[in-house]
Amino acid sequence: MSNWKNFKLDEFKCKHCGENEIEYELIDKLQLLREDLGFPFIISSGYRCEAHPIERKKKKPGTHNLGIAVDIACSHKEALQIVSAAEGYGFTGIGVNQKGNGRFIHLDISKAEANRPRPHIWSY
Ligand SMILES: [Zn+2]
Repeated sequence: MSNWKNFKLDEFKCKHCGENEIEYELIDKLQLLREDLGFPFIISSGYRCEAHPIERKKKKPGTHNLGIAVDIACSHKEALQIVSAAEGYGFTGIGVNQKGNGRFIHLDISKAEANRPRPHIWSY
């Protein structure tokens, strides 16, 4: 499936160059979570190519570069609702950035890897 009720594929493209290798499985899970929670998800980061400034700093490709991660701009009650429900929809990595400006929740569907324990929650 590549047609989602609340998301367009373009929302997940690399903000640096427009390339888009996001996994459809990630959006499928996000759509179910979105329907459960009932408020709009603002995608602040989806797929990131290797040349994206954030990925370029990493020693090995991160989950955004693998197309299996998304950052949702949100805060307060909505952020808590996303964190609370995410694992039940198959998200295995939950990153919490809820301080100051630019608040978001990172969700990914990575399997456990060396240096990438799953399931896992962290803060930035
Ligand atoms: Zn790019």
